[in-house]
Amino acid sequence: MIKYITLFLISLFSLSLYNNLHANNLHADFQTIPILAYHSFSEPDTSQRKLRINVPPKKFLEQLQYLADNNYKVLPLEKFVEALNKKLPLPQKSVVITIDDGVESVYSVAFPYLNKFNFCATLFLTTNFVNKSFTWEMLNELQNSGVIDIQGHTKTHHYCSLVRDLKTERKTSYLKRLEMELLESKNIIEEKLNNKVKYLAYPYGKYDQFVIEKAKKYGYKALLTFHGGTNTLSSSPFNINRQAVYGDFDLKKFISLLNIGHLKSYYLNPPLATYTFYKKPKIFAMIEEPINLNLYQILFKLDNKILPYNYDQKSGKLSLVFDKPLIQGGHFIKIQLVNKNTCIVEKEVGWVFTRQGIPFTTIKGIKLFLKIFLSLMLFGVLVIITYKIRRKNA
Ligand SMILES: [Zn+2]
Repeated sequence: MIKYITLFLISLFSLSLYNNLHANNLHADFQTIPILAYHSFSEPDTSQRKLRINVPPKKFLEQLQYLADNNYKVLPLEKFVEALNKKLPLPQKSVVITIDDGVESVYSVAFPYLNKFNFCATLFLTTNFVNKSFTWEMLNELQNSGVIDIQGHTKTHHYCSLVRDLKTERKTSYLKRLEMELLESKNIIEEKLNNKVKYLAYPYGKYDQFVIEKAKKYGYKALLTFHGGTNTLSSSPFNINRQAVYGDFDLKKFISLLNIGHLKSYYLNPPLATYTFYKKPKIFAMIEEPINLNLYQILFKLDNKILPYNYDQKSGKLSLVFDKPLIQGGHFIKIQLVNKNTCIVEKEVGWVFTRQGIPFTTIKGIKLFLKIFLSLMLFGVLVIITYKIRRKNA
C-alpha cells in the first residue's frame, strides 16, 4: 500500500513540476525583450544637430533615469542571446542597450552615463570609423571597463550594406567585399581589443539570406536588424529586432518603445530576408489576431513611407497598395497598430527583403550575344543578296 501511495505522490509531484515548467515556457514565449539602438550623443548645437540619429546627452540621461526608476534590468547582449538559444525566461522588464557605428560621444557621454547607473551596452563598431578623435586606446578603455562590449558593424559601412549592388558589383568582387566587411573587421577588433567578436549589427539593417549564411560561416553567433519590432524568446538569434531611439523622441515615445508588443503574423510576403525578382512584389502579412479598427489605426510602411493598404478582416490578410516599381536592393516593411486614443504604437512587426534585378554582367552578356547574332544575320543577308545579284548578272 505504502508503495502505491509513494508512487502516486511521485507522479503528482512530477506532474506539477511539468506544469510549472510548461507555464514558465509559455510565459517565456510571450515575454517581449526590447533592444534599443542608439548612434551618437552630441549636444544639438554641434554639426550632428540635423541628424535624427543624434540623441542629446540630456535626453539620454533622462531615458537611463527612467529605466533605473522603473526597475528595468539592462542586460548584456550575451545574456539575451544565451536566453534565446536555451529558451530560458529572463527577468521581467529586461532590456538591452546597443550603440552603432562608433563616434567620440560614445566615449565622452554614453560611457560615463551608463557607468553612473551601473548599466551596460554593446557598441557595434565600424572599424574604418576609428580615427584621431575616437581612438583604439579609448575603445580599449571601454572594452576593459566591462561597461561597453565592442562587437562588429562591418569595416566600411557600405551604402549597400552587406547586400550585393547588382548595378556595379560582379559576383567575385562582391564576395571579396563581404569577406572584408565581415571577417576583416572582426579580426581587426579581436586583435586590437583582445575580445571575441560574436555579434554583428547590419549597417542600415539591410541583409538577406545569403548574408546570414556568410556571417554564420565567419563565426557570428547572433545578427541584429534595424527594422523595429520587439523580441520574444522564440525569436531567431539571426534576426534580432531593434528599436532605433531618435533625437526627436520625447520620454513618452521612449516609454512606448519599451512597451511595444509583437504583432503576430503567420506569413509574411515576400518572406523575411529573401529575394524577389518582381518590380512590384505582392507585399502582405497574414495577421493572427483580428484588428479592432475602432481602437487602432494601421500604419503600413514601405521604406519608412506610409502607404495605403487593404485589410481583409476575415482572412487577416493585410496587403500594401503601391504603384511605383521597387528599386533594386534591400527594402523595409513595417506594420504598426497605433492606439487611436493614446496615439501610441502598441504593436508592430517589421521585416526586410531584397529586390533582385538582372545583374549588369548578365545584361552585358545578353547585349553582346544580340550584337553577334544580328551581325551574323546581316552578314548572311548580304551574302544571299550578293549571290542573287551575281546569278542574275550571269
Ligand atoms: Zn551604422
